[in-house]
Amino acid sequence: MVHGGAGALDNVQNQATAIRYLESLRGILEHGRKIMELGGSALQTVEACASLLEDDPLFNAGCGSVLNENGRVEMDAAIMDGRDLSAGAVAAIENIANPIQLARLVLSESEHVMLIGDGAMKFADHCGMPRTPVSYFLTEERVEQLKQAQRKHKMMLDHDDTEADSEDQKYGTIGAIARDPEGNLAAATSTGGIVNKRMGRVGDSPIVGSGVYADNETCAVSATGYGEDFMRTVIAKTISDFVYMKDLDATQATKAGIDYLARKVRGRGGVIVIDKDGNCSSGLTTKKMIHGWIEHGGQTTVRF
Ligand code: ASP
Repeated sequence: MVHGGAGALDNVQNQATAIRYLESLRGILEHGRKIMELGGSALQTVEACASLLEDDPLFNAGCGSVLNENGRVEMDAAIMDGRDLSAGAVAAIENIANPIQLARLVLSESEHVMLIGDGAMKFADHCGMPRTPVSYFLTEERVEQLKQAQRKHKMMLDHDDTEADSEDQKYGTIGAIARDPEGNLAAATSTGGIVNKRMGRVGDSPIVGSGVYADNETCAVSATGYGEDFMRTVIAKTISDFVYMKDLDATQATKAGIDYLARKVRGRGGVIVIDKDGNCSSGLTTKKMIHGWIEHGGQTTVRF
């Protein structure tokens, strides 16, 4: 399963744009299918799919990341392996084309779970990951979006014409989750965060248990939405706990998690979930979420 953000998606009312979003997700899902057919693990599949989503400027991650209050891109990402709960995360990083790949290196090449800011960049240098020039990230559209937010003295969310306190927002983070034929689960989430966010603000995406979670005994989860709501409800782990403690399937656990998110903090956003048996589910409190899935190796479905 993959997602490319939740919200009202007012910016994709235009049919040509909507098709671009859906076709992008479809292509990435097909790519994921091929990796698995060639014997790739769930972890390899989510890293590859998340990287492709980061490479598509339509989404708020990697090259399409939104700008912070200083007009800079600060990105967060995390990846988790359900086999042994190993995880890698990076936060507030700049000049890295694929933050999810740096998160994967934190998982496999460091003894830590999360590295941030300068330390994460030093680790990237140590791993030989190239620095990408700022021009790669600074699109005219993102600069205009920041100006608009600053004119309104608001923090705005990606691809959104409305204001931060409106319900009609889009949160453009990307996510990929997978279960491989061996029954291994993995999850990846990557984001530029929120337009005009404070320097140093870290959202839910790189926080294990909030924006990302995977445990072979329960499920894999990736979230998108107003990060602060997800951090306060630890939403991804909450959904996993519903599976673990109440023996719910993906659909039931997603519903329980979304109900909890709405009831406790009136949380805004959505999640994608695959349970240990390979059932796919999604839930949201916003009007829409761009997402897609291939269930049990069947057909590819993409939708808002
Ligand atoms: N969850 C992300 C954050 O708060 C935003 C998003 O989903 O677009 O940083």
